[in-house]
Amino acid sequence: MRRKLAAGNWKMNGTGEALTALEAIAGAHPAATVDLLICPPATLLYRAAQAVSGSRVRIGGQDCHAANAGAHTGDISASMLADAGASAVILGHSERRADHGETDAQVCDKARAALDAGLIAIICIGETLAQREAGQTLDVVCAQLAGSVPDGIDGSRVVIAYEPVWAIGTGLVPTLEQIAEVHDTLRQQLIGRFGSETAEAIRLLYGGSVKPGNAAEIFAVSNVDGALVGGASLSAADFSPIVTAL
Ligand code: PGA
Repeated sequence: MRRKLAAGNWKMNGTGEALTALEAIAGAHPAATVDLLICPPATLLYRAAQAVSGSRVRIGGQDCHAANAGAHTGDISASMLADAGASAVILGHSERRADHGETDAQVCDKARAALDAGLIAIICIGETLAQREAGQTLDVVCAQLAGSVPDGIDGSRVVIAYEPVWAIGTGLVPTLEQIAEVHDTLRQQLIGRFGSETAEAIRLLYGGSVKPGNAAEIFAVSNVDGALVGGASLSAADFSPIVTAL
């Protein structure tokens, strides 16, 4: 049985005072039966991990390098994230694919590095508005899934986040039927590639404008095992009702 996961992606938001919001989130769910993860900027990772120690909240990174160490100025390896207290990392977010030109193959290499470092790899995929309007959504997400997920995985350590690019930070959300169509297709693709035991262990998150007001209906959709939440993960007032809806 897959454990539900509520993951927050703080993106490039938050300096020291944001730890107060993190403590409020951790304090709001002392007996959570779902997995809780907040991914702050790298500069806050260590302090965030200290701040939530003893709570149900785990801390994750937002990217890692595919190499373990070396001459890569400005980059951070998966083992460094783990050393700072992270237990997961978001990979291939559409903002990184757009801003840094990350390809499926690079995301796949990063995911392998993350898994080797003992982290949970949260691999993001999703279509643009132009691709959806052209009827290419399933082809796009299946190609991203095939290219971004490494072989030989332990399904319980891999999470796929379906995030339509046009739904991120816009307040726009696909219909529940559209979410179900993508998530059911992803599950079938994973079963075809990895077999049902591994595939059924992989959690499929929906992400893109998840808010307290729409979380419950999204979580009721088949093959939705939780959410990757951006803006609404920055405060306990918004994130806690989403966690409770899960
Ligand atoms: P949003 O972002 O919830 O602010 O739309 C989601 C994400 O980019 O992970």
